[in-house]
Amino acid sequence: MGVRLMQISVLLPVMNEADNIFPLVDRLVPVIESVTQSYEIIFVDDGSTDSTVENILQAKQINDKIVLIKLSRNFGQHFAAQAALDYCKGERVVWMDADLQEPPEAILPLLAKMNEGYDVVYGVRKSLGGSIFKRVGSLSYIYLFNKLVKHQQPLNASVMRIMNRKCVDAINKMPERVRFITALNSWVGFRWAGVEIDYSPRSAGKTKYNIFKMINNALDAILSFSMIPLKVISIIGFVISLLSIAFSLCILLAFITKIWTAGVVGWTTIVVALFFLGGVQMMCLGLIGEYIGRIYFEVKRRPHYVIDAIYN
Ligand code: UDP
Ligand code: MG
Repeated sequence: MGVRLMQISVLLPVMNEADNIFPLVDRLVPVIESVTQSYEIIFVDDGSTDSTVENILQAKQINDKIVLIKLSRNFGQHFAAQAALDYCKGERVVWMDADLQEPPEAILPLLAKMNEGYDVVYGVRKSLGGSIFKRVGSLSYIYLFNKLVKHQQPLNASVMRIMNRKCVDAINKMPERVRFITALNSWVGFRWAGVEIDYSPRSAGKTKYNIFKMINNALDAILSFSMIPLKVISIIGFVISLLSIAFSLCILLAFITKIWTAGVVGWTTIVVALFFLGGVQMMCLGLIGEYIGRIYFEVKRRPHYVIDAIYN
């Protein structure tokens, strides 16, 4: 992306965060300006239907370091983040949510940690906020992700993080359509560290994620980063085949030795086995379908997002 002009870029995907814009800018700007005057604050409007865009433009009139990238519709948090990643010119790139759950002041300790020679510094939540569903959900997702995908991220990692240019360029080079910046971030590796941050309730507005969207996201992320589920179904198939071979040998033996001959008895066994195997097969087919669906999306090679306008 041409010459690097800035020291720090702050990326903020927003969707219907009208009431958070001013409080956020008021807290964020002094923090950044205590470090450098060479910065940009990039809001990406992800199809907001409230006055988010108006408020950002109003904030921009006061501070022209604010940039607004307006997407043509709602693409999702990670796609909006990708739009900002592609655009940003900073040597160090801060990505955070716009709802003040993560304190902007935490940027300073994160930057200090980075100065010790890290490429990525994650904000790690001291305690998880949100409902019990949300807490269990995100913990088990990260745990599973870390188990299945060998590229680690801290268990309590929040979205808030600072990446250096090396890391941002590496992420931007990854072509895939199913896009989870958090997962791509751990995939690219580099030297990373975590710094504990306070985590507050949302400052205003509502969360954009419900339990279904979270499960969907977690499945998406794991299936696009791991082939282990496919291996598991092969193993299930293999074990079932072995068991049925053993079972038929038993029947044969019983028949030869005349201990027992197959008569009408055994109806239950047959029906149960039929339904069970039918279910297992459907599940496995469904899982393979999930992977094929992802391949289908990848081969279409559509852009990650569509920009309506850039105000800079
Ligand atoms: N967000 C977005 N597009 C979406 C959903 C969310 O840009 O489709 C933004 C949202 O405005 C916020 C951030 O992503 O700045 C995180 O969303 P949220 O706070 O709702 O997630 P949670 O903290 O509840 O997991
Ligand atoms: Mg939030």
